[in-house]
Amino acid sequence: MSRVAVVTGSNKGIGFEIVRGLCKQFDGIVYLTARNEKLGQEAVQKLKSEGLNPSFHQLDITNEQSFQALKQHLQDKHGGLDVLVNNAGFAYSGADKTPFGIQAVDSLGINFFGTMAISKALLPMVRPHGRVVNVSSRIGTMSLKKCSAKLQARFRDRGIQEEELVTLMNKFIETAKNGKHVENGFSDSAYGMSKVGMTVLTFIQAREMEKDPREDILVNCLCPGWCNTDMTGNRFERTAADGADTAIFLAFIKPKESQGQMFYERKPIEF
Ligand code: NDP
Repeated sequence: MSRVAVVTGSNKGIGFEIVRGLCKQFDGIVYLTARNEKLGQEAVQKLKSEGLNPSFHQLDITNEQSFQALKQHLQDKHGGLDVLVNNAGFAYSGADKTPFGIQAVDSLGINFFGTMAISKALLPMVRPHGRVVNVSSRIGTMSLKKCSAKLQARFRDRGIQEEELVTLMNKFIETAKNGKHVENGFSDSAYGMSKVGMTVLTFIQAREMEKDPREDILVNCLCPGWCNTDMTGNRFERTAADGADTAIFLAFIKPKESQGQMFYERKPIEF
């Protein structure tokens, strides 16, 4: 049976470059996924014109019907998967005037709750020796440092349970709606708090994998660095391909090389 890799949010930006890199290096089938089918198919055609051969499946990580359809497809066609890169993400631009409460709902809805939902659907299908790579951000680390000492201690506690993390993320959203998130100990960045959630979720997933009977499944996250993509208004010198490098590296790490760590430029960093 062929090995299978899936990259979320890969019609453009860093996700697209992760697919391009995996198509060159991964011995198996690489799925480029996109919430917009047309944009996804166009991205696939672009890679095909370079002689690469990604497969395509529609995927919106916030839509249960969509991720259940992908799950069914992977089960029926391949019987599982071997590499999952949770790259799909969203950020409001700094100048956006959308009320902060809505920014909190949308940012956490995709980056935290969406990543958690697609992970819950697909992690049980990851085969032994699989690799799970979550594209988080050091903006999460910066946000963590702005949280109250009490919250920092909770988020840094490697024993934190998923239920508590979800409660804290929901509390951030609820207090953000009334502008009371800072007085409740959270940072003033919806994107930053969403990435705190994504990084801590990675640590929880990694801890659960250590208890899992499946052998050698490693879960890690990374910051790609500030890259020149639509998300950042295309204002950085670092390319999306530069940002993709560590994600691709983590898809190929050796057994026991790393479990539950955050990386930047192929090296573990503190959270
Ligand atoms: P882009 O905005 O270029 O790409 C984001 C991708 O995610 C797009 O394909 C987008 O699809 C997709 N996406 C958004 N929402 C969903 C959803 N609900 N379901 C499925 N796909 C979705 O951003 P980047 O390439 O810059 O970002 C990739 C990842 O890297 C993100 O997680 C981001 O937070 C992280 N990151 C980026 C940094 C940077 O400097 N660029 C720095 C640190 C972290 P669509 O085209 O339909 O919008």
